[in-house]
Formats: sequence, structure tokens, C-alpha cells
Amino acid sequence: MTDVNANYLKLQGSYLFSTIAKKVAAYKAAHPQEQVISLGIGDVSQPLVPAVVEALHRACDEMAHPETFRGYGPEQGYVFLREAVLKGDYLSRGIALEADEIFISDGAKSDVANFQELFSIDSRIALQDPVYPVYLDTNVMAGRTGQMQNGRFERLIYLPCVEENNFVPQLPAEHADIIYLCSPNNPTGTALTKTDLQKWVDYAREHHSLILYDSAYEAFITQADVPHSIYEIPGAKEVAVEFRSFSKTAGFTGTRCAYTVVPKAVHVKGPNGKSISLHALWLRRQTTKFNGVPYIVQRAAEAVYSAQGRVQTQQVIRIYQQNARIILDALHQAGLTAFGGQNAPYVWLKTPKGVDSWSFFDTLLTEAQIVGTPGVGFGSCGEGYFRLTAFNTPDLTAQAAQRVAHLQI
Ligand SMILES: *Cc1c(COP(=O)(O)O)cnc(C)c1O
Repeated sequence: MTDVNANYLKLQGSYLFSTIAKKVAAYKAAHPQEQVISLGIGDVSQPLVPAVVEALHRACDEMAHPETFRGYGPEQGYVFLREAVLKGDYLSRGIALEADEIFISDGAKSDVANFQELFSIDSRIALQDPVYPVYLDTNVMAGRTGQMQNGRFERLIYLPCVEENNFVPQLPAEHADIIYLCSPNNPTGTALTKTDLQKWVDYAREHHSLILYDSAYEAFITQADVPHSIYEIPGAKEVAVEFRSFSKTAGFTGTRCAYTVVPKAVHVKGPNGKSISLHALWLRRQTTKFNGVPYIVQRAAEAVYSAQGRVQTQQVIRIYQQNARIILDALHQAGLTAFGGQNAPYVWLKTPKGVDSWSFFDTLLTEAQIVGTPGVGFGSCGEGYFRLTAFNTPDLTAQAAQRVAHLQI
């Protein structure tokens, strides 16, 4: 038999969402008359906006005629979309980048997962705890961690994000080569301010580290001191790669489009200390392993930046922001402590004293027929917390909030 990549055997089973599904199914079977509402989903509920759908239709029609039909496109994305992103998300905020520093892709999940393969197997990785599981699991698969010992992988640098530090990761005592930062954060719903992020950029410059910055929830930012891009921070352009997605911004979770910014100024060290352009490496990687995003999808993404597209997508974001406020208010009414929700579609609540994440899950399901996500499922520092999402419809979110507000805990 063929030998397996033994790193895969180090992965911890992701029982989180399957355990939740099983518990919910059992509860529904025993209580068929109850209406269970999910505030656990990380997927959007609102459809694509009209400007995007119109662009999709137009592009489909182009595909039907020989003069306008498109086959393989550039692996890094069509220039029209790279320029739309550049103008819409960067130049408009005073950030100078070039269109060819923006790589269009079919998802931030795959980009963030694939990016680690550009680095040495010996690189030391730092990541937030709790965290979006993709950063951790892909580094385990690659063999950058040791075994799991007492709930932690050897060789990884965990950055606890808890109430005591306002969910802001503190600089590590050890040297980190690669630092994953997710802001606004999934799952905690909190965001780094410019001051917080400047410390990390300074650290990365001093230690010759690289920051992999996931800002999938950028569109939800409301606070003025929370940066929309890491490149708003002086000095970031030499030490940071930024991942963005149309998934949460414009409801593209099923349509699939995202982008990654790799400034040409970012360098990594080759054998014998030679400096190598990360941009050139990522370009080589993408042209070898990826064949681009469908033309029709790139036209749809371009429409997000049109005058109408902007207004319409912002209206949808406001629906989710309003949902988040309703959830926060209801939790406060119930006497619970909650964080996030202001710059992200996630609310991170603290479970009552002595109640762990999973017990709280059971209570919320049986007492209020609401499904959420136990914080411990995102890392051991998530124990004692619980995630609710603002992605359900306004109607069901309002119903869920009423139940939460009257919870007796
Ligand atoms: C949803 C999400 C993404 C987006 O992934 P896509 O593959 O673009 O849908 C990226 N990062 C985080 C932290 C997310 O929660």
C-alpha cells in the first residue's frame, strides 16, 4: 500500500459542525412542533444584488456568441476586475498599489490555505486562538507543526484572544516567521485598531516576519479607527499580504470570487540569503496550479464596484449590521456579556459563570430553540464563549432575539 502523508493524521477531527448538526437533528425529532432558528451559520441569507445579477446575465450572453466568447482567461484575473478592485478598494482610500499586485481567485479560503506552500517547512507560525480553522489545518497538513500535546500543536505559536486582552493578540516572546491575523475577526467579531495593527507591522519589520492578513469582513467595519486594509498602516507594504473576498461583502459564497494582494515590495529569503520576490513566487504558483475565475463571475464581481452595485451591496450589509445590533441588544437584556457585532457579522458572548461552551449550546437549543456555535470549537481559548451570527434573515433574527431576550439563565 502507498504511504500516507502522515501529517494528515495529526489533524484534529473537525467534529464541531457535525456534532452541532446531530444535536439539532435529535432535538427536532423529539420536538417536531418547535421552530428552531439558526444563528450558527457562516453563510449569507440575502441574494445577489440586482446590479450583480444583471452583469452576470450580460456576461452569459457574451459567452453565447463567437465574437465575445471567452475561454481560458489570465490565471491572475482579468485586468478589468483587477483595476476595479484597485480603484474601488485601494486608490479610493489613498493606498497606492498596482493592478498586477492584485490576484483574483475563486476564494479567500483557498488562497489563505495555499499561500503557506511558498514558505519553508521550518517556518514558525503564529496564529490567533480562537481562530478560523483554515490557517491551522493547512499548516498541520504541510508538516509545519509537531504533534498535538494537551490541546496544542507543538511548534505553533498561539496568540490568545480573550476578554482580558480585549481580543487583541499580543506580540509573542518567541520569533515568528509567519503571522496570521484575521480582522475583523471570525469568530470573535472584534477588530484590530490602527494602533493595534501598527504594533504587528513594526514587529514584522523588526523580525523580518510576514503578516498574512485576512480581512474577509472588511465591509462590516463601522469604527473610524479600524483600518479597512493593512496597507493603511505605514510600513505594511513590505511585510504583509492581504486576503479579501466577495463572499461576505457581496453574497458571493456560492458564486466564488476573492482576491489576494501581494505587493512587489514583499521579499522572502532564499538559500544563501538571497532576497526573492514573493510576488513572483505567487504568480508562478497560480499560473501553475490555478486556471482563473470564470469570466462571468469576474464581470459579476466588477459590478460590485459600479455606482448601483455599491449602493445595493451596502444596503445588504446594513441588514446584517442591524441583525447584529438586535442580537447584541437581546443578549444584554438577558443579562449576558457580549462582544463584537460592531465591525463584523459575529457576536461573541461570554457564557455565564460555570457554564462551558457546549452546555450553553444545549441550554440555548432546549430553552430558546436557537442554534449557535460553541466558542471552544475555534480553539481552546474559545472555551467559555459562544458565537452567534447576523447572517440569518431579519425576520428570523428578530424572532430569535425575542427568545434570547427572555432567556432565564
Ligand atoms: C468566510 C471567510 C472567508 C471567505 O472565504 P471564501 O473562500 O472567499 O468564501 C475568508 N476568511 C474568513 C475568516 C472567513 O470567515
